[in-house]
Amino acid sequence: MTSITKSAALLILLSATLVGCADKSLLSPAAEAVTTPSPQATTKAAEPTPISTPTPKPTTKPIATPKQTVVPSATPHPTTVPSPAASAKPATDATKTKPIAGDKTPYSWYYMKKKTGQVPDFPKETKSYTADQKAVWVGTGKKVYLTIDAGGPLIEVDLMLKSLKENGVKANFFISGNNIKSNPDYLKRVVADGHFVANHTMTHKDFNELSDDQIRKEITDFEALYKKITGKEVEKYFRFPYGHYNMHNLSLVSSMGYTSVFWSTAMRDWEPRENGAEDPYNDIMNNLHDGNVILMHQGSLENMQALARICKEIKKKGYEFALVNDLQPKK
Ligand SMILES: [Zn+2]
Repeated sequence: MTSITKSAALLILLSATLVGCADKSLLSPAAEAVTTPSPQATTKAAEPTPISTPTPKPTTKPIATPKQTVVPSATPHPTTVPSPAASAKPATDATKTKPIAGDKTPYSWYYMKKKTGQVPDFPKETKSYTADQKAVWVGTGKKVYLTIDAGGPLIEVDLMLKSLKENGVKANFFISGNNIKSNPDYLKRVVADGHFVANHTMTHKDFNELSDDQIRKEITDFEALYKKITGKEVEKYFRFPYGHYNMHNLSLVSSMGYTSVFWSTAMRDWEPRENGAEDPYNDIMNNLHDGNVILMHQGSLENMQALARICKEIKKKGYEFALVNDLQPKK
């Protein structure tokens, strides 16, 4: 087959998939957890596991697994296996034992992509977030929120910072503590360039598998480390590793003053991209919409290679890059 025929075939296949699964169509591979009425044993996608890495979880077969589009929560980061030591100390702030609302049905963030230019649809549970469950995932108007997840390997840092700087783009970084512990210079450079840095936990574990105290500790440990390195308090914005959360944990994180940031564009960027830097470029441009919150993993070489072009093209389309602290959670 020529490559044209091949892509045509792929396209057809793809459209079929999308149409085929109507409402759930674009669920993220990780989304079965959400879509199945009430699986409590986190139905993790068996094959397009967003968490491509050793995750110590039971894997159940996903129901519908649309190959493409949607976009998982995922993170390419090698998940560190919970170390017993990590949970040894009780969380410092955990003393206010105000009961935390919300049940523990596991969710995995996803969205349903629409035509280019249109804002995707979002899971129905977003409609039940209360004022005490502060979360944002899309904005409005000609603004794009580039969020860079640095919970995995840190690669092509020079290229990334240069691409952002040369294009006058400020990005939103969600960095895990273990990364800045081993590479404080990374954080210092990101901060020095004026980017927005938020809390992505200390060790990048799946919060649905942690106790409240462990969760508090993941967050406060990051805060302390951030302060130690930068001398400043971290911004009160948060991202759940892998996009895995439940209503209870959303409330818990909110009770610590944080707004959780999900997204309206993500990519299967934790695995090598077939067409190199073309893939992240197309993934992003084909889903560009008002208020777009883009999730990009720093650990993807192709992302880094495509970054400058993406920044230029988004601006050319009339969008301005913004920081997530101008997104308003529902009151
Ligand atoms: Zn992450």
